[in-house]
Amino acid sequence: MSVAPPSTIALQDRFARELPEMAMPWQAEEAPDPRLLVLNEPLAAQLGLDPAWLRGPDGVRFLVGDRVPDGATPVAQAYAGHQFGNFVPRLGDGRALLLGEVVDAEGRLRDLHLKGSGRTPFARGGDGLAAVGPMLREHVVSEAMHALGIPTTRSLAVVATGRPVRRETLLPGAVLARVASSHLRVGSVQYARATGDVELLRRLADHAIARHSPGAARAERPHVALLEAVVAAQASLVARWMLVGFVHGVMNTDNTTISGETIDYGPCAFLDAFDPTTVYSSIDTIGRYAYGNQPVVVEWNLARLAEALLPLFSDDQEQAIAIAVEALEGFRPQYAAAWSRGMRAKLGLPEGLDDAVTAALAEDLLRLLQEGRVDFTSFFRSLGAAARGDAAPARDLFLDREGFDAWAQRWRALGPDADAMDRVNPVYIPRNHLVEEALAAAADGDLGPLGQLLEAVSAPYDERPGLERYAAPAPEDFGAYRTFCGT
Ligand code: AMP
Ligand code: MG
Repeated sequence: MSVAPPSTIALQDRFARELPEMAMPWQAEEAPDPRLLVLNEPLAAQLGLDPAWLRGPDGVRFLVGDRVPDGATPVAQAYAGHQFGNFVPRLGDGRALLLGEVVDAEGRLRDLHLKGSGRTPFARGGDGLAAVGPMLREHVVSEAMHALGIPTTRSLAVVATGRPVRRETLLPGAVLARVASSHLRVGSVQYARATGDVELLRRLADHAIARHSPGAARAERPHVALLEAVVAAQASLVARWMLVGFVHGVMNTDNTTISGETIDYGPCAFLDAFDPTTVYSSIDTIGRYAYGNQPVVVEWNLARLAEALLPLFSDDQEQAIAIAVEALEGFRPQYAAAWSRGMRAKLGLPEGLDDAVTAALAEDLLRLLQEGRVDFTSFFRSLGAAARGDAAPARDLFLDREGFDAWAQRWRALGPDADAMDRVNPVYIPRNHLVEEALAAAADGDLGPLGQLLEAVSAPYDERPGLERYAAPAPEDFGAYRTFCGT
């Protein structure tokens, strides 16, 4: 393993250099008593950072932004965003900093970013801080998503700062060190557009092309190709969320990436019982970001991206709009194809199968799951056993067993492949009751349960003895789950 000597961690400042109008040089607030809570060693190694050094005093200070490598330029990034449908022209990193970019072991540029590192000029009324619980939550859930094969930002580490944070009560503060293929958001493009500076917008779009879709640079219309690439990446991403039962919870345009990575694990949660109207976030009173609305919301966010990019498509506004509409029309078929392909795989059915057959089978199944309030993850995993001839575990999840039997007969006739199903239907996800249990223990100073949960969800498809409780649905008395916005 090759690791950089700590004194020469080569942090680039590409965003800060190429887009100074959107990068405000800033420093982290000093942490009074930084203590490392979790370190993602495989990710550290991928980034060429020495885990042993990161665990030491200088490394921990690096992870909270107190010790910045020579030549690095930490910045707070400017962005705008539609929050619950309302446009806010100036959001930006109110409590976060981009330390810089690192070239990883595969030669890819990755952002190293801190969340909870103190107030910045974008903080508005916020305190710039983050509490230990929500940052550990982001660590676990983002690592689970990564292990599930879903594009996501990663968590390198969570460090307790020793500074209390005032929420409803006083909580211990923390900084999350986050790694992403970039922190460009739909809201970043909206910010550039709102400045009225078309050259800035163009520079931002070119920066996005260089980082995320280099192929677009060679297209006849590179900025249209960029929009098409984001449409494709987001259609695929939201299909993955839907297929695994992930509810993001706060899909504002500032939380929708240009890279197609999941970002901002605030009030997110995984479905227990299947129900498209499921909302966990305490602030989402109208269910705008309910599980079943997610594809429509992503499409809406992409329309905001297209709008922001319009001046780059054509000098003629009518023509620019026609180009944008055409690109956006790619979303629905791409989403539908990704979802069908994924659902066919979850059902263990052969690749050549007609999409209409998958769709009809899936529609009837989802209705049964919803009527029976069946646990989404348990069902699909136990369906693998049914493909091997043991239908009882799946069947027993339903009240309407005859309904399930009739459906299963149609499904089995298509020849499902149980081994293939086990490779796509996870046994272990960060179930809400397990996440809460691990965070409660961590708040009492016991990181053991968090470590065990991380171990389970880090190999989600690989069923292991001794981990039965990580595969089981929430106990009845866990009740209705509510999440809070991660501040
Ligand atoms: P989020 O809901 O985390 O996506 O954040 C939305 C906006 O609020 C972003 O501009 C954040 O930087 C800002 N923000 C959230 N929490 C805080 C905080 N505690 N202090 C300052 N800014 C914050
Ligand atoms: Mg955000």
